[in-house]
Amino acid sequence: MDVNDSLNSTSTTDKPTKIRLECEDDEYIEDEIIEEAPTECSNLEEDSVMCMPDGSAIDGDKTSADYYFDSYSHFGIHEEMLKDAVRTKTYQSVIYKNPFLFKDKVVLDVGAGTGILSLFCAKAGAKHVYAVECSSMADMAEEIVKLNNFSNVITVLKGKIEEIELPVAQVDIIISEWMGYFLVYENMLNTVLYARDKWLVKDGLVLPDRASLHLTAIEDADYKEDKIEFWNNVYGFDMSCIRKQALSEPLVDTVEQKQIVTNCQLLKTMDISKMALEDASFTAPFKLVAERDDYIHALVAYFDVSFTKCHKLLGFSTGPKSRATHWKQTVLYLEDVLTICQGEAVVGTMTVAPNKKNPRDVDIMLKYSLNGRHCQVSRTQNYKMH
Ligand code: SAH
Repeated sequence: MDVNDSLNSTSTTDKPTKIRLECEDDEYIEDEIIEEAPTECSNLEEDSVMCMPDGSAIDGDKTSADYYFDSYSHFGIHEEMLKDAVRTKTYQSVIYKNPFLFKDKVVLDVGAGTGILSLFCAKAGAKHVYAVECSSMADMAEEIVKLNNFSNVITVLKGKIEEIELPVAQVDIIISEWMGYFLVYENMLNTVLYARDKWLVKDGLVLPDRASLHLTAIEDADYKEDKIEFWNNVYGFDMSCIRKQALSEPLVDTVEQKQIVTNCQLLKTMDISKMALEDASFTAPFKLVAERDDYIHALVAYFDVSFTKCHKLLGFSTGPKSRATHWKQTVLYLEDVLTICQGEAVVGTMTVAPNKKNPRDVDIMLKYSLNGRHCQVSRTQNYKMH
């Protein structure tokens, strides 16, 4: 899953390095697939039904959030996701290389979009697939299913997971591509857990079943200057009140591997098959040790997902050392520039929780300190993805 680049606030940028993902037209490839356990740094009107991730109804005038979710009605966002080959081919490999998981099984595709994952499952021998999609893309999915002669195997249901009635009491497998920027932005994980608790048979499968959030630190002087310090002096005027705002919004962008100054630290692992809703809010400690003398301008978060129930472990990383995905990375600029020497560590905690007023937004609190030879800093910074 993904958010629309045309949305204004959380900060996808037009940095010149913006990456366009092109889809190879060959058979599915395996080059970006993790075949071993991912390590810390291995390579997120009538016919426009709105779906809020918490299942709430939308009434009255549309808010920007409404337009945001309505964006899934347009093919553009699906094109971007489908062309993200790291993402789509990993799901395809998981399904095609493990037909024993799918044979004669009933599958629920949570947030089916164009129906791509349902089609993969049907082709792999699933007995029946329920493809649930709340945006009007569901109408297209229905047509696509017909066009490809899978109408007897795939049933498209248009509506919110939280509101639809499934024709069956239980399903054997839940598959979904629910991940947002910074993993949990958009809060669609709630929808998957809701479906799991309502319909998944005991010992059923959730695909993917593991997601983890990681943190590292980067040198990013030029871009911090351009995006943050810019506000200190705009044509001779002090606009530093906007600097504060800019600093509090994580930036979704690609980071180059050579910018990484420290190790990459695993912050949190989620077992989607077992976790509770509350586990998506957490405080995790980190220790980022400098691998060279450098300056640190930002911390960078990214996620990995894996499918541990496959014959061989499969998954992908959205980290800066892996091939880029449409999730890019999430950059959290620091108030201070940290002058760090090799071997010194930035230590702290990161607290992540859905915003209380708007659960689609994510509040992030970063506490960090560096007690180094050239720099002593201790600070708390609050960020909001919205
Ligand atoms: N499975 C598709 C689409 C993934 S994007 C693919 O892999 O390409 C996630 C989709 O979930 C979007 O199309 C969005 O409209 C849908 N969605 C989000 N919340 C939902 C909910 N509560 N109920 C049903 N669909 C939902």
